[in-house]
Amino acid sequence: MALSVTVLGCDGSYPGPGGAGSGYLLRGGGATVWLDCGPGTLAALQTHVGLHDVDAVVVSHEHPDHRNDLEGFHVACAYIVGREGIPVWAPAGVREHGYHTGPPTLLFSDLVDRASFTVKGMAFFASRTDHGPETLAVRVESGGRSLGYTADTGPGWTPARLGPPLDLLLSEATYPVDQEGHSQHLSGRQAGELARAAGARRLLLTHLWPTADRAAVLAEAEAAFGEAVALAEPGRTYEV
Ligand SMILES: [Zn+2]
Ligand SMILES: [Zn+2]
Repeated sequence: MALSVTVLGCDGSYPGPGGAGSGYLLRGGGATVWLDCGPGTLAALQTHVGLHDVDAVVVSHEHPDHRNDLEGFHVACAYIVGREGIPVWAPAGVREHGYHTGPPTLLFSDLVDRASFTVKGMAFFASRTDHGPETLAVRVESGGRSLGYTADTGPGWTPARLGPPLDLLLSEATYPVDQEGHSQHLSGRQAGELARAAGARRLLLTHLWPTADRAAVLAEAEAAFGEAVALAEPGRTYEV
């Protein structure tokens, strides 16, 4: 498998009953990368890989639903399983506002607009989105396949900023169309329109609020995208 993404958690803004915040496990090019560390995703991560298997961590922004479990990961690595020197790419706010998440366990690099880096055979490119605190979407490439992750964004950003058309776009779609403008997030309709305009080949929706009408968000996204769309399911692995 050239590149895959496993959903560890996909609830928007807070975990719903039995759910988890945003978190994904990326595998490809010999690399295992944890992308976003929402509440509940550290537990889910360990049902797929061990803590020693995580080569690097990428955190899109400092909101709790995307970063809280980085604290637990630090505690486990620093005091229990004995790991040091784990690369973490995150906007400065994650590093500055964290609870003892520094070296020697976690080695932070600032994730900024248009940053690029590699983890083994997996390449990343970041783009700052339209969201409250500094938030970075990422393009991930491995083995000739490309995944885009919008992180959190309002409609003032487009996945086209992640470069050439993506094989799979993992897009936030926080609520249905009747809540557009509520906050710096996308409705299902907006996610579908942006993905279509950017030429994404497949669209996978995530970050729905636990209160959202999932069928409605999916239907409006499909109408706007013009093709079938899927809703992210926790525990499921998608081949990019
Ligand atoms: Zn969020
Ligand atoms: Zn956010």
